Amino acid sequence: QARRLEGVDKNIWVEFVKLAATYSTVNLGQGFPDFPPPDFLKEAFTRALSGEKHMLHQYTRAFGHPPLVKILAQLFGKLLGRDLDPMTNVMVTVGAYQALFCCFQAFVDEGDEVIIIEPFFDCYEPMVKMAGGTPVFIPLRPVSGPKQKGKLMSSADWQLDPAELASKFSERTKAIVLNSPNNPLGKVFSREELELIADLCVKHDALCISDEVYEWLVYDGKEHVRIASLRGMWDRTVSIGSAGKTFSVTGWKVGWTVGPNRLLQHIRTVHQNSVYHCATATQEVVAQGFQREFEHYGKPDSYFVQLPKEMQQKRDQLVQSLVAVGMKPIVPEGTYFLVADISEFKSDVPDVPNSDEPYDSRFAKWMMKNKGLAAIPLSTFYCGPHKNNYNSFIRFCFAKEEATLKAADDILQKWK
Ligand code: PMP
Ligand code: GLN
Repeated sequence: QARRLEGVDKNIWVEFVKLAATYSTVNLGQGFPDFPPPDFLKEAFTRALSGEKHMLHQYTRAFGHPPLVKILAQLFGKLLGRDLDPMTNVMVTVGAYQALFCCFQAFVDEGDEVIIIEPFFDCYEPMVKMAGGTPVFIPLRPVSGPKQKGKLMSSADWQLDPAELASKFSERTKAIVLNSPNNPLGKVFSREELELIADLCVKHDALCISDEVYEWLVYDGKEHVRIASLRGMWDRTVSIGSAGKTFSVTGWKVGWTVGPNRLLQHIRTVHQNSVYHCATATQEVVAQGFQREFEHYGKPDSYFVQLPKEMQQKRDQLVQSLVAVGMKPIVPEGTYFLVADISEFKSDVPDVPNSDEPYDSRFAKWMMKNKGLAAIPLSTFYCGPHKNNYNSFIRFCFAKEEATLKAADDILQKWK
């Protein structure tokens, strides 16, 4: 075994996906929609496979199928307010996962530090380590301002301490990973919060790896601000997206990076020496999906307008279910996910004296086995030594059909 694999052999998804398949009847664990993708995308898929373009079954350009990089450059050019070159400012990857992997491999050397905001999408830590880097963690903390009675906590109430954040930057800092909207909390970082991060990146000449896979899933009229659009940031930011989240097709594994050529050239080097290129047909279909959305941009029948509306209702439905049984939801401003506080929720989870396993993890496993409901413990999204800092929360995915959310509600209400 190569040294770089030490300590990164366990994977929460491998474990929980298996448990959910074995025990759960209602799966609100791993984040994926159980509703179908939009019709226009399914139709494009059928057309792509049955049509005359038989070259869609063959190799395409290494760094992205031309129609896809072109439309991505057009759309993100518009969103970022700058002209993007499809060939040098955009690269297509096998999901956002590969985009992240390429970034760490391309920029992180032995001894480099990478700042990660907790709670974080779990793969950042092992990926930084595999590149030889050292992750440096900074927590979002729930702020206890003047609470209105009966008011639920929001993901916006989890915040960074500016002085603490500043203290994490040093001459060893190579990059910070930003994930807004954030998995698992659903926090959508405000412009002010992003400016704080941006100023520190500029001051310390650090890169920003900006994981924006939930960019279209933002609720209550909140604005998703792209950190690459802030002053001084374009040149030092790689923005990452995912067709899986954008079009509700997580199984397609099409992702992308957008950024300056000075950074993307190195990402291309990693890509050409590992994956080389992604499946042609799915890239073609995703390109058509984006073409359609580009033409309907901001209009009521745009999927990017409709999906968040539907998702917000699903969120509210799950909030109701959880409140009714005494789990305290942190209402997310974005994403597929909702984190709920289970500290006052009565259950029969057996006490295991001296167990290292955080309570939320034992609770989630017990709930899956005894109630058939799958969710993910929040401790999953903390590094090893911090797993017990916030160990009485679980994450539910609400990107689900009405019937699935109803089935979850039935389990919860019966259990109460
Ligand atoms: N980043 C975040 C924050 C995620 O939640 C996920 C999981 N979907 C990914 C990256 C990976 O995305 P993909 O499925 O496109 O590889
Ligand atoms: N991003 C999804 C989640 O957080 C799926 C992760 C995965 O399958 N590795 O649940």
